[in-house]
Amino acid sequence: MTPEHSPMLRVALRVLDESVVVESPRPEGPVRMDQALPFFWELDDKAIGVAIRRAESEGKSISCCKGCAACCKAQPVPVTPPEAYSLYLLVESMPPPRRDEIRGRFADRVRRLREAGLDQHFLQRQSDLTKDEARTIAERYFRLGLVCPFLEDDSCGIYEVRPFVCRQYLVTSPAALCVDPFNNPVRPVPMPIAAAGATLQAGEKLTGTFQFTVPLVLALEYAESRRQELEQTFPARPLYQTWLEAVSK
Ligand code: SF4
Ligand code: SF4
Repeated sequence: MTPEHSPMLRVALRVLDESVVVESPRPEGPVRMDQALPFFWELDDKAIGVAIRRAESEGKSISCCKGCAACCKAQPVPVTPPEAYSLYLLVESMPPPRRDEIRGRFADRVRRLREAGLDQHFLQRQSDLTKDEARTIAERYFRLGLVCPFLEDDSCGIYEVRPFVCRQYLVTSPAALCVDPFNNPVRPVPMPIAAAGATLQAGEKLTGTFQFTVPLVLALEYAESRRQELEQTFPARPLYQTWLEAVSK
């Protein structure tokens, strides 16, 4: 990372056998975690590029393409707290007819999740769930078929600012298998960095509170209920440094 007083933030990371470099103007003053996301997404995208090249060099091909969207129609799509807040702010900034439409879609998904008795599982996350319990909850969620509120004509309506998990979820198995990933042998591309995990770890270190992901459809609820925590600001350097340390592990 660049020295403390440099006007630029520059990070060079070794990912598999490649060097990944991201550079952007250093933010002036303290920043919220969600404001650092564009930098982290760019680094993540470059690391994903390395993972794709690695998979292709092994003779595999990526099945994902524009207009293929089964994964956006039922998966829980776990988002980190700063991503939830950035989605909340994004929806708030939309012109009223569009904002109302998107908020209506969120409300519909939340209502269905509530009716299934699942919303509190995600909003009041227990850290001691076994793997089997977590899988059962994820499968119950999947069976509800909750389409992402941002999906438009089978394409992502927020492509540039989509969460880490949407960027990283790429498969080499046939797209047809994605309609039921619990029972089909779906093969995700192994990712070289755990960007969402690093965001949780950095958030925990910076805020001192337990951080967990929520399904994207609960992002607005989550952001509204933890707004004070999500609006905390931090000096830029320790924030970026903490995230980079977590992602480098
Ligand atoms: S994960 Fe599956 S459904 Fe989603 S874009 Fe890739 S192939 Fe299509
Ligand atoms: S944010 Fe975009 S990529 Fe992610 S689930 Fe929603 S529509 Fe799909």
